[in-house]
Amino acid sequence: MPSNPPSPPAPATPGAALADVDTPALLIDLDAFEANLAQVHAQAHAAGVRVRPHAKAHKSPDIARRQLAAGAQGICCQKLGEAEVFAGAGIDDILVTNEIVGTSKARRAAQLASRIRLALCVDHALQVRQLGEAAQAEDSRLNVLIEVDVGQGRCGVESPEQALALARDIASFAPALRFAGLHAYHGGAQHLRTPAERAAAIAAACQRTRAVVALLAAHGIACETVTGAGTGTYGLEAASGLYTEVQPGSYVLMDTDYAANQPEPHWPVLRHALSGWCSVISRRASHAVLDGGLKAFATDHGLPRVLLEGWRVDGLSDEHTVIVPTTAGAAPLAVGDKLRLLPGHCDPTVNLHDWLVALRGEQVEAVWPVAARGALF
Ligand code: PLP
Ligand code: MN
Repeated sequence: MPSNPPSPPAPATPGAALADVDTPALLIDLDAFEANLAQVHAQAHAAGVRVRPHAKAHKSPDIARRQLAAGAQGICCQKLGEAEVFAGAGIDDILVTNEIVGTSKARRAAQLASRIRLALCVDHALQVRQLGEAAQAEDSRLNVLIEVDVGQGRCGVESPEQALALARDIASFAPALRFAGLHAYHGGAQHLRTPAERAAAIAAACQRTRAVVALLAAHGIACETVTGAGTGTYGLEAASGLYTEVQPGSYVLMDTDYAANQPEPHWPVLRHALSGWCSVISRRASHAVLDGGLKAFATDHGLPRVLLEGWRVDGLSDEHTVIVPTTAGAAPLAVGDKLRLLPGHCDPTVNLHDWLVALRGEQVEAVWPVAARGALF
């Protein structure tokens, strides 16, 4: 049974048939999910790197536990609040792949670090000072990674010299702070469509990261961990000889944006495990209307795709999706029928839902709460 169920009712109970799952809901095809999980972990482990899946994709302790059972080192979170939820569910090794600022968050981080092995990222002396003072006050140990901007152009230090100065700041707070290595994630590379473009982006990321590792080494500072990568590039970082850990998130669920990447020749082909499940609530000759809209599907990476022959999404509004036939031979569809849609972008889609309905074939095997849903701070 799910722990701490949120107040809205679940769309299904274990043992139910898919046809009886209420809508709108999110479904997980467990066969596809388990295949994605096993294959990506096997590929990374064969290359000798650890897997620390990004839990921002699913926000589900039930999924995190399966990732750990499949050999993951721990998990990544993007927000401290997510980390608190996962720690509460028993996950005891978490990297927050982000900078945090403010004494209130620093105190929460230091408190969490007295319960689990916690690491966070920094790119400025103020974050180091706030984390250091909080960890000293709580008498806890925080692992700190310096984030390097490896091409994303977002957070991260821009030069090896900046990294060296920060590493010295971190050392000045020992033993409350412990320098653990580098966070070198290239988000912009993940959805470059061709393998050649992705390879070039990650080669450049490695070059920047190597320069930081080298300067720190020249000053006697070792980078025990070099971590980064997502579903689009994990095999490149894993094979680099530089990264010690990869952080794919979407790989277990998948979405149409990732499916639009041209595949890497020798990597596993990831299957769509995640889909939306909607009912037809109104029908005309020209279109059908579904009962989930923008509050059920994120559209930042494109409209959802209807998994029914001869139909496509025409548009979404808050609570409705209008689908239209594309051919005269479109599959028949009537009020009350239910159908699946593939989301354009899994992470923000999952964050719209309280539950994930895990299916084995056409039967509900489990219903998982999206426990870290909305954990924004
Ligand atoms: N690592 C970091 C720091 C991220 O921000 C993300 C996603 O944005 C990931 C890993 C996982 O990426 P994906 O879900 O594309 O595999
Ligand atoms: Mn994403």
